[in-house]
Amino acid sequence: MSALLEVSGVSVTFDGFRAINNLSFNIGARELRAIIGPNGAGKTTFMDIVTGKTRPDQGSVTFGDRSISLLKLSEARIAQAGIGRKFQRPTVFEDQTVFDNLMMALKKPRSPFAVLFFRPSRPDAVRVQALAEEVGLGQHLARKSGELSHGQKQWLEIGMLLAQEPRLLLVDEPAAGMTLAEREHTTALLVEMAKTRAVVVVEHDMEFVRRLDCKVTVLHEGAVLAEGSLDHVTRNPAVIEVYLGR
Ligand code: ADP
Repeated sequence: MSALLEVSGVSVTFDGFRAINNLSFNIGARELRAIIGPNGAGKTTFMDIVTGKTRPDQGSVTFGDRSISLLKLSEARIAQAGIGRKFQRPTVFEDQTVFDNLMMALKKPRSPFAVLFFRPSRPDAVRVQALAEEVGLGQHLARKSGELSHGQKQWLEIGMLLAQEPRLLLVDEPAAGMTLAEREHTTALLVEMAKTRAVVVVEHDMEFVRRLDCKVTVLHEGAVLAEGSLDHVTRNPAVIEVYLGR
């Protein structure tokens, strides 16, 4: 599998403290990967590096044929280059419909005037319908987003990110606060999404990671402690020590 994201020898120091310590690993172009690790392992800092929010002190991050770390691309440029990030809390426009939220998120050049006099074109409306169906909201296009369940809001936000056509999507604890049925839908959605792009899920919930049934990277003290299937890494004595040994 050819790598889409290559993290190589990356270190980040905050006030003399090494949050990321010589971190190296790759993500494939159509891969679903879970990143786990105890609090403070460096998971958030890793996502901050990949999205340009935090600059590494050392090492390189390559996305496709672009160097994120060396060129010092801005957060906006990195997003344009095809990296999307889903934070834990959904940030949809609650007083707008599902349709309008997705329409606003579509990737296209817009002049300020185009926004003022905006009328959705037919191809855009078709694309919005397809996005809504992709995330399981095909029957809810006319509903105000504020009326959706927590899970539905999360899927709407995923749809809004997909509207930007990312090649890599970073998703932070997607199933937190969801009902069992919502978690199952989210699992299926992430697995499906990873068939056409790379999806990296940062997750605390091991049961949810088990359902994803994908390769797992365990971070500890800013470096990779173990990598492989969930069964493989949870049998690793070093991982057991980190999770249970204190
Ligand atoms: P995780 O997401 O795995 O819980 P983080 O990436 O948030 O871990 O944090 C890794 C380590 O870096 C932690 O020890 C945290 O306290 C520290 N850290 C993160 N951001 C900062 C910052 N802006 N300033 C100082 N220390 C930080």
